[in-house]
Amino acid sequence: MQNTDIKNILKNEFKGKFLENFPLSEYTSFKCGGNAKYLVYPENIEDVFKIVKFAKIFNEKILILGKGTNVLISDKGFDGIVISTLKMEKYTIRENTIICECGLLLANLLKICIKNSFSGLEFLAGIPGTVGGGVKCNAGLKKEYLSDRILFVEYIDFEKLDVFKKERKEIFFDYRKSEFNENSFIWKTGITVENDDAKKIKKKIKEYMNKRIKTQPLGYSAGSIFKNPYPYYAGNLIEKCGLKGYSLGNCFISPKHANFIINKGKAKAEDIYKLIKLVQNKVKEKFNIELELEINLIGEFE
Ligand SMILES: Cc1cc2nc3c(=O)[nH]c(=O)nc-3n(C[C@H](O)[C@H](O)[C@H](O)COP(=O)(O)OP(=O)(O)OC[C@H]3O[C@@H](n4cnc5c(N)ncnc54)[C@H](O)[C@@H]3O)c2cc1C
Repeated sequence: MQNTDIKNILKNEFKGKFLENFPLSEYTSFKCGGNAKYLVYPENIEDVFKIVKFAKIFNEKILILGKGTNVLISDKGFDGIVISTLKMEKYTIRENTIICECGLLLANLLKICIKNSFSGLEFLAGIPGTVGGGVKCNAGLKKEYLSDRILFVEYIDFEKLDVFKKERKEIFFDYRKSEFNENSFIWKTGITVENDDAKKIKKKIKEYMNKRIKTQPLGYSAGSIFKNPYPYYAGNLIEKCGLKGYSLGNCFISPKHANFIINKGKAKAEDIYKLIKLVQNKVKEKFNIELELEINLIGEFE
């Protein structure tokens, strides 16, 4: 009865922006994972508040998804409401600050930079996620992090049901990590940029892209699976275990970059998880190093 109620409420409130039993395999870059009980596309902050309030009343869990490029979602799916940020992609420019909504794709942020002759974010070229996901995961390269460019973040605290703003110095960021947890909805981010020549910016972006194309594989993946355990590189350790190119069922470790697991197309999340465990065990056995996941596991895994 309760489920019917929340279903109808969401359906009415979010006409055309509500889906039921949606296969998350269609949403994520890994192309696997079970169904979301409900998937909603809010267009503004008021919509998000509505969803959170209904979720509280009907005791439904919430999962926030950006572009789904840094997650492995269980084959059992998500038994609750998935909030997709992809329709929240507005931005404003105030002098040398771009204020972005969470669903803005990093690729579109770079287009905005080119159009306005802003430099400083070229290192984000080829990272396929959104600004919100990028903030949460502190996206970047080996030495360049999105957090270096963040001035402030405005977010909803689901428990306090209110919007808060934090300046960069008040926010904890680390390597592929931030203080924002599943109870924080990252809404707006202020990002600092510098004025430069658009041609120079384009050239830099191209250089970053070319480097990526040379070193990283194509295919269904979530980018690097493991964090690099300083001072080592995860890919290097995996390669030294003889696992480069190793195949397990419908997924394999990329022969181009050993820190990438690729879904051949029909892999289940459980297959990928098994391969992750196998790699972690081998690296632990050989080097006594625990590889920590860079991707976010969502739902139950055995
Ligand atoms: C081919 C490929 C290459 C990649 N290369 C890189 C790289 O070079 N560097 C790098 O850092 N990453 C890389 N990634 C990983 C990924 O693109 C980034 O981490 C990206 O920032 C994730 O954004 P997303 O929108 O896809 O997040 P999602 O995968 O949708 O979500 C990731 C996490 O963030 C949370 N989240 C998303 N949006 C919000 C929000 N608005 N508020 C609160 N929480 C939120 C989710 O709940 C989840 O826990 C790569 C991925 C692929 C597939």
